[in-house]
Amino acid sequence: MSDQAYDSNNIFGKILRGEIPCHRVYEDADTLAFMDVMPQSPGHLLVIPKVPSRNILDADPAVLSKVIPVVQKLARAAKDAFEADGITVIQFNEPASGQTVYHLHFHVIPRYEGQALKPHSGQMENNEVLAANAEKIIGELGN
Ligand code: AMP
Repeated sequence: MSDQAYDSNNIFGKILRGEIPCHRVYEDADTLAFMDVMPQSPGHLLVIPKVPSRNILDADPAVLSKVIPVVQKLARAAKDAFEADGITVIQFNEPASGQTVYHLHFHVIPRYEGQALKPHSGQMENNEVLAANAEKIIGELGN
C-alpha cells in the first residue's frame, strides 16, 4: 500500500474540483485527461481517474480498469496528432520513484527516434502552446 493517505489538497484534486484551470483534452464519467504544464516532449499529457487515490499502490483495481483504456485512447490520439514515432507511458509511485503530485496519474508522452526526453517537472510551457497542443489532440479524438 501507499506510505500515506490521499490528501485532496493536491493540484490534480483542485483541477478535478474546478478550483484551478487545465488544458482539458478528454473527459468521461471516470477519467480526465489534460496537458502537462511542464511537457517532456510536445503533446505530453496526463490521464487521471476521478476517484481519488494517491498512486497505483492504493488504487482500486476497478478504477484502473476504467483508466487504462483511456490511456490507450489518448496514446493513440497523441501519436497521430504529433506524428510521433512512439509513445512513452510513465506512472510514478511515491517520492523515491519521482512522484511529485499525489493523485494517481499516467503520463502519455510522444517520442521521436533519437530524441531524448526533456527533464521531468522541468520548464513551464506557455499557455498558447499548451492550448494549441490540446486542440491537436482533441481534433484527433474527433476523427
Ligand atoms: P509526477 O507526480 O512526478 O508524476 O509528475 C507530476 C506532473 O504534473 C509533472 O509532469 C508536472 O509537470 C505536472 N503538473 C504539475 N502541475 C500541473 C498542473 N497544474 N497542470 C498540469 N500538469 C501539472
